[in-house]
Amino acid sequence: MERSHDTYTLQGVPVLSLAEQFGTPLYVYDAAVIVRQIKRLKDAYSASDVRLKYAAKALTNVSILKLMRKHGVGLEAVSLGEVFLARQAGYAPVEITFTPSGVDFSEIEEGVAQGLAINIDNLSTLRKFGEKYKGTYPCGIRLNPNIMAGGNIKISTGHSNSKFGISVLQLQEIQDLMKEHGIRIRGLHIHTGSDIKETEAFLKTAEVLFDTAKHFTGLEFIDFGSGFKVAYREGDVVTNVEDLGARLTKAFNEFCAQYGRTLELWLEPGKFLVSEAGTLLTQVNVVKPTPTVTFVGVNSGLNHLIRPMMYDAYHHIVNVSNPAGKEAVYTVVGYICETDTFGSDRPLSEVREGDILAFKNAGAYGFSMASNYNSRPRPAEVLIVEGQPKLIRAREQQDDLLKNQVIIDL
Ligand SMILES: *Cc1c(COP(=O)(O)O)cnc(C)c1O
Repeated sequence: MERSHDTYTLQGVPVLSLAEQFGTPLYVYDAAVIVRQIKRLKDAYSASDVRLKYAAKALTNVSILKLMRKHGVGLEAVSLGEVFLARQAGYAPVEITFTPSGVDFSEIEEGVAQGLAINIDNLSTLRKFGEKYKGTYPCGIRLNPNIMAGGNIKISTGHSNSKFGISVLQLQEIQDLMKEHGIRIRGLHIHTGSDIKETEAFLKTAEVLFDTAKHFTGLEFIDFGSGFKVAYREGDVVTNVEDLGARLTKAFNEFCAQYGRTLELWLEPGKFLVSEAGTLLTQVNVVKPTPTVTFVGVNSGLNHLIRPMMYDAYHHIVNVSNPAGKEAVYTVVGYICETDTFGSDRPLSEVREGDILAFKNAGAYGFSMASNYNSRPRPAEVLIVEGQPKLIRAREQQDDLLKNQVIIDL
């Protein structure tokens, strides 16, 4: 978001006009930022045969998925629901990687029926897979490297006590199952968590992966997952994807030379592609000075953006209605009947009732984690494409709260 002439704009569109035109709360996404992030990653890894697979769970709107596909990005799905949405966006099954965690085997069978690229994340499923498909349907396996990485225990998935993946220490069991059933493994997958800022952590994971990969013949790809950390506030330490890309592709190419075959390098960015592209616009309902704090209550809450409460995430807040106002310190809260603080002790230009507050970095895990808690409809979504704001999801209405409810006679 640029600040020019005291007006906050996205691709030249004043944010205030969006709030006026579409109402609030409103999720707004800037397609140009998504396209920029795609290019950054592709460029950073261009020394290898890199394939991006957008982790759809970060933001699943079909128009966003279409944008990804248009820019040559494949898709990473963790559920058949995401696969369904990807298909609506025009993705062919072969362009979709399916990496569910601990699902019933029937979901894996459905994935095979559709022709998805499947990553299997536990030995029990691998056994069933082998018994049913033998060597007829090559698959990938999700490994757990036994490495602690990531910004938060809730989003850290690669440590030894994590539920995700098959431990690299169980290599023998994997190989026994492969031999017993003739299973063909076409790729190894790893995803060690989110918000990993240290290049070293990624490289260490890669080393574990290469060591394991040596024991498999016939690999086509290695999937390094994601976890790229983006800046939520000024001065945040982030993943330096350019540095990481240069170093990881170098190590990868060396591995390929030893392995005797040029493999594809897969990445599954979610947050990195969409976080900064998104802004949540809310309106101030009340300004409430107390003897100790001045609260600002907005027309949204943890039902629409749960990251601050769930992960202690920081989202930068801007008063777009009063950019020149005198700065004061506020605690910004939602309207949910439970503590839902968006930000404590934030310096904001003077806030008045009716002002529009923008929450930045709301593209990833914003709308996709939104709920109807407190029986509040979910926001509308707008995508700005080439300077044109386009509605990509209508605002929910109260009637929608009744959907699927069966009202019985009592
Ligand atoms: C969530 C997830 C990702 C994306 O993680 P980000 O931190 O949003 O980039 C990638 N791969 C898998 C398997 C995931 O579950």
